[in-house]
Amino acid sequence: MAIKDIYLHNTLTGKKELFKPVTDGKVGIYSCGPTVYNQVHIGNLRSYFFADILKRFLTWQGYEVTLVRNITDVDDKTIKKSQQENISLKEFTGKYAQLFFDDLKKLNIEEATYSPRATENIDEMLKIIQDLLKNGLAYKAKDGIYFSISKSKNYGALAGLHIDNTKSEERIANDEYDKENPQDFALWKFWTPEDGEVFWDTEIGKGRPGWHIECSAMSVKYLGQPFDIHTGGIDLVFPHHTNEIAQSEGACDGKPLANYFLHNGHVLIDNSKMAKSAGNFITIEEVSSKGLTPLSYRYWLLNANYRTLINFTWETLASSEQALKRLSRALSAIEEIGEINKDYLEKFEEAMSDDLNTSKALAIVWDILKDNSTSDADKKSTILEIDKVLGLDLANQIKTQVAEAPEEVRILAETREEARKNSNWAESDALRQKIADLGWKIEDKSGGFTLSPL
Ligand SMILES: [Zn+2]
Repeated sequence: MAIKDIYLHNTLTGKKELFKPVTDGKVGIYSCGPTVYNQVHIGNLRSYFFADILKRFLTWQGYEVTLVRNITDVDDKTIKKSQQENISLKEFTGKYAQLFFDDLKKLNIEEATYSPRATENIDEMLKIIQDLLKNGLAYKAKDGIYFSISKSKNYGALAGLHIDNTKSEERIANDEYDKENPQDFALWKFWTPEDGEVFWDTEIGKGRPGWHIECSAMSVKYLGQPFDIHTGGIDLVFPHHTNEIAQSEGACDGKPLANYFLHNGHVLIDNSKMAKSAGNFITIEEVSSKGLTPLSYRYWLLNANYRTLINFTWETLASSEQALKRLSRALSAIEEIGEINKDYLEKFEEAMSDDLNTSKALAIVWDILKDNSTSDADKKSTILEIDKVLGLDLANQIKTQVAEAPEEVRILAETREEARKNSNWAESDALRQKIADLGWKIEDKSGGFTLSPL
């Protein structure tokens, strides 16, 4: 398949731009991963869903995609919480990293090519800090090594900040950044007794890295500089990505960090930002405990473009669950495999090439189902092809429809099958009713039956 022109909204320019990779046919994506100190919420997961859609679409288009999604496993919070639980930092962060990977799996988010951990890439961070010291962009203070934003060219361009570079140096020592006020930030924090056993004894001093330097080091290690696409939530534009750019450009003679920065919008709840700190958040575990499938959340996210703000409600999630069920039931009723409809595929490609318009792509799926001029078999093949990008796992959902029926229903269905073989129609009808009372529909097929939820 020929690679189509793809337009993506680049935060660096504030415009939709034609995507051109650094190397023909290849794409490198860095997706800022979680700090693993508790379970991520569904708002955080939108960012990984969005990077997954981007990766799937580019792969489907024929690119060889390398996706790096890091794990931040050292910072103020992880150290403090591991101490409170009286376990090592490694054991503590390992537990939450695993919960994160489990959540990704439930949303059918594909594995990254690399999932580096910050604590395993300290040497790469030291190299950047040493280069920054050499280039006069970093300085040593009492409690750590800081990046000097007044020495940096174009600091804050990504976030559209206009910095008064004549201001005296103000420093920010902890990991909780002031969202309004750009300040010199820590590249390396010298050890204090509060850090306990967490430190690296290095040429630049005994201590640990700051947050921003981690991503500068891990992205370039695997993807080179500049690489193609850097993704994250809109809240990372400043200070995180702004600081990543300043560090990486500063250490590398102004060479850009990445050519495209893509940012997804927040998920709101009751019209305010879903946030751990505010206590108003929902996890995938909670979605499952309400009897809804995690994939219904993926379907719900597909309804909106990744850049828009969306307000979460349980009612709209339940509607998504119903829609997803309707879709997989309609497809499971079609037995044969047909041809992929090129016209619909072209429309789908067009929608996705326009800054990943997933809501339009989803509408195309429903248009295909409703189209009377297309055979059922062709509808199924076309939708399953599109689902390679949307990732609703429709092919597997169809396969598991029968297997999912509870044992009681399956036994009734088999008894009914026996009754039918013996031409005992009255019993067969009574059993069909019993199966329906349990919420399942039985359909007779040549050589057997299928079960699907009513
Ligand atoms: Zn990052």
